[in-house]
Amino acid sequence: MKILLASTNEEKIKEYKNLFKDTNIQIVLLKDLGYESLDAPEDHETFEENALQKANFYFKKFNIPILSDDSGIVVPILGSFPGVKSKRWMIKSSYLEKTKELIKLSKKSNPHSYYVCSLAFVNKNIKKTFTGTVHGKLSVSKNTNGFAFDNFFIENKTNSFFSDISTSKKNLISHRSKATKKMISYFESKKIK
Ligand code: IMP
Repeated sequence: MKILLASTNEEKIKEYKNLFKDTNIQIVLLKDLGYESLDAPEDHETFEENALQKANFYFKKFNIPILSDDSGIVVPILGSFPGVKSKRWMIKSSYLEKTKELIKLSKKSNPHSYYVCSLAFVNKNIKKTFTGTVHGKLSVSKNTNGFAFDNFFIENKTNSFFSDISTSKKNLISHRSKATKKMISYFESKKIK
């Protein structure tokens, strides 16, 4: 099945290409359809609602199966913050500055945090979301090579910064991979090809 991965985030695209490499799902990108970028609204309070809002937007536009991803990081001691606002909060600051601010607000040196990823799959018959989480803690670091908060997120089981592990290793444990695996199992159970 061909699915439009409705994201222009190169880091997410790299992870999805790796996640789908041994499946019969063929990823199509916005740029393949002649759209370098086409932003969808995402103005809800939950990851699931935002993912679905984005997927509905792209399905209306392109009328092909859509996969959209809404994700972010949560520091539970701060409520669900920054959560769905992870990308838009302190938009002019670096991720190091954002991390330092979250640590300051939490009043802990390494606050517990977790990533959330909600995927929405929309085609003409189905509108469904799948969510995955991964837990760890935030820490200031000198890392600069990783995606956004990955430079400052130490995952609990591996005790490693996400930026220090390969895409394949991240895909064994990440929020994005857990949501994707749920979606692939759903396709298998419904015999969706
Ligand atoms: P979205 O594009 O609205 O889903 O926003 C995602 C934002 O959440 C990113 O820009 C990052 O700030 C953060 N985020 C989500 N997933 C990850 C991840 O796997 N690594 C690093 N940051 C992430």
